[in-house]
Amino acid sequence: MFDIAIVGGGIVGLATAVTLLKQWPSLRVVVLEKEANVAAHQTGHNSGVIHSGIYYKPGSLKANLCVDGVRRMTAFCEEHGIRYERCGKVIVATDNRELAALEELYRRGTANGVPGLRKISREELQEIEPHAAGIAALHSPNTGIVDYAEVSRAMAAELVQRGAAVQTGAEVRGIHQDGSGLRIETTAGEIAARFLINCAGLYSDEIARKMGIEPDVRIIPFRGEYYFLRKERQDLVRGLIYPVPDPQMPFLGVHFTRTVHGQVEAGPNAVLAFAREGYTKGRIRPGELWATLSYPGFRKLARRFWRTGLYEYYRSFSKAEFVRGLQRLVPEISMADVSPGGAGVRAQAVARDGNLVDDFRIVELPRAIHVLSAPSPAATASLAIGNYVGTLAMETFQRSESWMRSSSRQGTPY
Ligand SMILES: Cc1cc2nc3c(=O)[nH]c(=O)nc-3n(C[C@H](O)[C@H](O)[C@H](O)COP(=O)(O)OP(=O)(O)OC[C@H]3O[C@@H](n4cnc5c(N)ncnc54)[C@H](O)[C@@H]3O)c2cc1C
Repeated sequence: MFDIAIVGGGIVGLATAVTLLKQWPSLRVVVLEKEANVAAHQTGHNSGVIHSGIYYKPGSLKANLCVDGVRRMTAFCEEHGIRYERCGKVIVATDNRELAALEELYRRGTANGVPGLRKISREELQEIEPHAAGIAALHSPNTGIVDYAEVSRAMAAELVQRGAAVQTGAEVRGIHQDGSGLRIETTAGEIAARFLINCAGLYSDEIARKMGIEPDVRIIPFRGEYYFLRKERQDLVRGLIYPVPDPQMPFLGVHFTRTVHGQVEAGPNAVLAFAREGYTKGRIRPGELWATLSYPGFRKLARRFWRTGLYEYYRSFSKAEFVRGLQRLVPEISMADVSPGGAGVRAQAVARDGNLVDDFRIVELPRAIHVLSAPSPAATASLAIGNYVGTLAMETFQRSESWMRSSSRQGTPY
């Protein structure tokens, strides 16, 4: 019998396990991952940016856990010899209408305590990013880059070293509760655990449903597609160049990011995916697509944003339109400079009233903690989320008298 089973071997599940075991070394923890490797989904298909905490509403979980997460993430990388780089980032206003939103980002970033965040003039922008266009900008010198799949593999290795089980190829199919705990049916056999932490990313709502809970949000998958910048043109981008995002949308807008592997990516856009793991246009899972289309929250969302949605589709099929968007940030970019890259799928939680859930959503129940929404910057914030969820889990689970009474092992904190 495990004390805690964590569903999902993405960075949030792994970071939660790592922080739990650091604090309570005698816990028996298993991470259940359906794929053959950890970090197979959002964690392994993202921009690799260590966000500094600029965008998020002060006081929100995102703001607090992102700023705390940066410190924890860079310390983890240093401890494990993982390459990361503080390459810096500019957010560029290219139009007068964006100045108010840029000012609001500065206000939020300052309130969140983002180190070194500054408003810069057009001349300073030219010094930092000589090829970027813009009438005003923010500069965040500490924003960094890392490979989150590499971080996740290091977390999995640390977990094994600390005595946890990381079971890949174990898809959770059913969860049954009885007096002594949970019986978790997986494709690799049945597992018994006292408590569960759901970090299943694109399937987090499904896992909650398997425990008989109807979550107040549904995961709607939005694919983000990237282009690569040709090697000979990579000097057009020194660090990270972002536009001012649309304040109504949770996505940051198509941007340029350098990777720790020496590439420069442009993207991601945000198109509705027809499968939760729909990395390509042709990937359709009819049941999942139907679940999206028939969800009242999605229909309300679609009524509000159908123009944006159609435009994103058009841009997804039209390289010329994608490049036009990039030229607003770096006018010298041409069609010949970019080639199609990879894609990631964001788990966007949508409420029944059609609102996009902006903050992290973590729900506690007597036997389980469900991380129902952990979008960007959750990779950056993963170790802080892990600390938050781990603490919450121990408090919640300690309140469960059955566990306290039945736990007779030495060294457990109960
Ligand atoms: C295109 C894109 C760009 C992004 N850029 C950034 C960025 O630059 N910086 C940043 O901080 N964040 C970024 N993010 C967000 C970040 O990647 C995610 O917030 C983070 O990876 C979420 O981690 P997770 O562990 O919750 O989810 P995932 O990484 O998706 O992990 C969930 C895991 O659960 C497993 N699972 C699901 N169902 C089951 C089941 N039934 N049984 C067992 N296992 C199951 C899955 O296989 C998966 O491995 C980006 C995301 C995307 C998609």
